[in-house]
Amino acid sequence: MKTKIAIIGAGPAGLALANALLRRGIGDFLVLEREAEAGGLCRSQIVDGAPLDTGGGHFLDVRRPAVTAFAFDFLPEAEWNRFDRDSRISIHGRLIGSPFEANIWQLDEAHQRRYLADIAAAGCNTGAPMPEKFVDWIYWKLGRGIAEDYMLPYNRKMFGDDLNVLGTYWLEKLPNVSYEDTLRSCEERRPHAVQPGHASFHYPKAFGFGELWRRMGEALGPRLLLGTPARTLDVASRTVNGEIEAGLVVNTAPWPAFERIDGLSPESLAAIASLRHTAVDIDYVPEDPDTPAQWIYQPDPALPEHRWLVRRNFLPGSRGYWRETRRERNPPLRPGAFRATNDWAYPLNTVGKNEAMAALLAEASAHGVLGLGRWGEWQHYNSDLVVERALALAERISRG
Ligand SMILES: Cc1cc2nc3c(=O)[nH]c(=O)nc-3n(C[C@H](O)[C@H](O)[C@H](O)COP(=O)(O)OP(=O)(O)OC[C@H]3O[C@@H](n4cnc5c(N)ncnc54)[C@H](O)[C@@H]3O)c2cc1C
Repeated sequence: MKTKIAIIGAGPAGLALANALLRRGIGDFLVLEREAEAGGLCRSQIVDGAPLDTGGGHFLDVRRPAVTAFAFDFLPEAEWNRFDRDSRISIHGRLIGSPFEANIWQLDEAHQRRYLADIAAAGCNTGAPMPEKFVDWIYWKLGRGIAEDYMLPYNRKMFGDDLNVLGTYWLEKLPNVSYEDTLRSCEERRPHAVQPGHASFHYPKAFGFGELWRRMGEALGPRLLLGTPARTLDVASRTVNGEIEAGLVVNTAPWPAFERIDGLSPESLAAIASLRHTAVDIDYVPEDPDTPAQWIYQPDPALPEHRWLVRRNFLPGSRGYWRETRRERNPPLRPGAFRATNDWAYPLNTVGKNEAMAALLAEASAHGVLGLGRWGEWQHYNSDLVVERALALAERISRG
């Protein structure tokens, strides 16, 4: 079978690309999706009478107007609520605001004094050179107290016990709160910091986040092949599963998940083998935590999970919360409880990953095989950024 474009994966990346191509009058493509439904990590299902996002808590950031407008074409604006972010950190028996450094004023005075003194003595404030290892970087940026009480335990829960396998190149995503800001927050008893993401976001009124992507999948009609995994990929001939020959292949699936990839150099195959990721379980709990927060970070190493999503605070009239837990930390499921599993949740930002991906994508794209999205590019992209990149790619394709 021949097609102009084969898109592998119908998560936000594949769905947005496919729909953007259709809008540009390009219809000669196929989308292969392994699962029985579209949406990838952004899917939802009904649990205990209300939607639950099975890939974790998912919110549409308002930061990219072109992306929001694209989303509203499928799920109109009137069908969304807009919220300002209220996220908390559970620490020392309290729920304080996030980011941590801007909200230590909500702690008792002894903790405030300790954290402030530690930030003042941190390397970034004393002129020490920026370290290259992850753990050293956290101490250098935030000081001992916040590193040991929050950042290191939380990141170990999210990403694994050896944090030094991670690079430091992605840490600019963290909120950048200066010592002066923290001091001012403590003096004025209010936060002084800019939220890095999701400061304001949309969530569907009557559905889970997955409804947006389900509708995008529906719009593709027979071009979307559900329950159709891409098992093999011959990069040199742009052939998927030995039978679909494409003029261009856009891969949004995890590169290491293919059973076989031909036509790449040993260096690129080694780059694929070096990629690391985590799996995350979503466990539903039919209880209502006493908080107005939409989500709560849980750095306590004694708890398996790292985050709670408090459903009624973004889906009015619902109840319960769900926990996000890295698979290795999660105890066996209790009988009758709900758990959704995500084998591919976080691509890890390991040392050397960007160089490995750049070499892989350069070689593959020379053959007409592109990587797109969280897995195709192996980046911590949120869905709004993935859609933005898909829209840009559709434009490039339409220009030939
Ligand atoms: C816990 C958590 C919370 C998040 N919170 C947010 C948030 O609040 N807001 C936000 O915007 N983003 C959030 N994200 C990020 C969001 O999930 C991703 O940006 C988005 O899902 C990326 O889309 P994608 O299409 O690149 O990847 P995916 O959603 O992973 O889609 C990949 C698709 O490829 C399919 N596939 C895999 N292998 C194959 C194969 N061999 N053949 C065919 N198909 C295959 C998969 O089944 C899947 O459908 C969160 C992610 C996690 C893990």
